[in-house]
Amino acid sequence: MSAARATIDVVVLHAPEVDLPSRAAIDRAKIELERRLGPSKVLTGVEACATYASDDSDVEGRAPDAVVVAASASDVAATLAVAQVCDVPVTPRAGGTGRTGGAVPVAGGIVLATHALARLKDIDRANLIAVVEPGVVTGDLHAAVEREGLFYAPDPNSLDSCMLGGNIAENAGGPRAFKYGVTRDWVLGLEVALIGGRAFRTGRRTAKGVTGYDVTALLVGSEGTLGVFTEATLRLVPKPPAIATALALFSDVRAAADAVGAIVAAGVVPRCLELLDAATLDAVRAAGVSVDPRAGAMLLIEVDGEAAEAGLLRVGEIAAACPRNVDVLVAQDAAQRDRLWAARRTLSKATRKLARHKVSEDVVVPRTRIAELLARAESIGAATGVRQLAYGHAGDGNLHVNFLWNDDAERPAVDRAIGLLMRATIELGGTLSGEHGIGVSKARYLGLEQSEELIALQRDIKRVFDPKGLLNPGKIFPEGGHKAC
Ligand SMILES: Cc1cc2nc3c(=O)[nH]c(=O)nc-3n(C[C@H](O)[C@H](O)[C@H](O)COP(=O)(O)OP(=O)(O)OC[C@H]3O[C@@H](n4cnc5c(N)ncnc54)[C@H](O)[C@@H]3O)c2cc1C
Repeated sequence: MSAARATIDVVVLHAPEVDLPSRAAIDRAKIELERRLGPSKVLTGVEACATYASDDSDVEGRAPDAVVVAASASDVAATLAVAQVCDVPVTPRAGGTGRTGGAVPVAGGIVLATHALARLKDIDRANLIAVVEPGVVTGDLHAAVEREGLFYAPDPNSLDSCMLGGNIAENAGGPRAFKYGVTRDWVLGLEVALIGGRAFRTGRRTAKGVTGYDVTALLVGSEGTLGVFTEATLRLVPKPPAIATALALFSDVRAAADAVGAIVAAGVVPRCLELLDAATLDAVRAAGVSVDPRAGAMLLIEVDGEAAEAGLLRVGEIAAACPRNVDVLVAQDAAQRDRLWAARRTLSKATRKLARHKVSEDVVVPRTRIAELLARAESIGAATGVRQLAYGHAGDGNLHVNFLWNDDAERPAVDRAIGLLMRATIELGGTLSGEHGIGVSKARYLGLEQSEELIALQRDIKRVFDPKGLLNPGKIFPEGGHKAC
């Protein structure tokens, strides 16, 4: 095996080099799409198309030449058939909240919008499953199943606007992943259409099942590069009967990171263990939330289940006994709990206000090395002169290290900081992405973590699904081979 290491000095963000469709191919595709789907589902106006050119990353794509707003699985299949016949790239899209450019059409062509495929088809209490279309908003699924006394755990902080198709394609996580795992742990089966229009089902509706290769698991996290989901069968569990929430305040982030290790080592499994560093707390204060001025770091802790209160009490005692603990505050009722979470969920927006530009990385390290990662992030900020702050799912070792800047001239320094962070993460035994995926933003770093052989194998898998490379081109894989970065 060759070593999966490469050197990063200065890299500059740019859209990947991809083959562009010819004008004749695009014109033919537009005619075919309108013929097969009817003009109302095919947007070709410049302004309409431009709104589908970006997501929540800073990846710059090319405005699509056409946007299909699919209303059924057969619309999806027809679009993928036209794309193949006409040799035009197609980029699937759900809520457009992705952080790595996954839904950004880097080669123009067709954007296949799945937001209108939004039926919650079934909630089956006896079998503990939900059947959904990919455009169902994640928070709407939560509300619907919870009304039935059931629970779907994956909870990306974007849950008011992201959709299940996007969550499945990115294998999204969220604060509750510490106890309940990520999206892949909740997807039992998929209905999927391939480029060319062939459709099939994977997986099962049963609690167990090991028949054949686990193609469902392969498709989850495939970032829209292997197939387009038109339906998903999701696992549910009974809604936890009680939830208890607390804040533990520390004088500094190292103390908070060490407390994470102490809580986990004590054998308690909170459902969330979220960390906010000093700069993030300042942003929260600036957004109008009052936080004890002595606090230089915070853990947001949540325990659920029959013994939630007792569990939280134990965690609170452990946190209070940790060095440099400033206070532990327990939410007394649902309203207080909602207020604590409102602050956490607005973090992304609150920190975005601190500068004109922000990029939020989602690296993961073994949780015993969180303090080292935070220290490395701080020195990277100092060495490159780029402002940084960190918060995230500390229970999983998954931290959002954010870099902030105002002036476009700072961008090369930001790219250098990102490269150094990726390298530090790998040196600490970590992985490049815990939940946002690789997309365009991180493709150039893939070779830091994965061997040439592993990347080649994945490219081979991609070719089996999509021989002409038309489905979501320019994503995941580095340009120009293994050590392109
Ligand atoms: C404020 C904020 C907070 C966030 N917090 C979290 C968090 O806590 N955890 C987390 O994991 N992420 C988080 N994210 C990132 C983002 O919300 C997730 O990656 C989410 O899963 C993307 O869903 P989406 O519907 O917006 O997908 P999109 O951005 O539209 O697409 C994402 C990917 O899915 C593919 N895709 C879309 N639909 C389909 C389909 N039907 N079939 C196949 N492929 C498809 C696209 O091609 C693309 O590659 C956050 C983003 C924001 C803006």
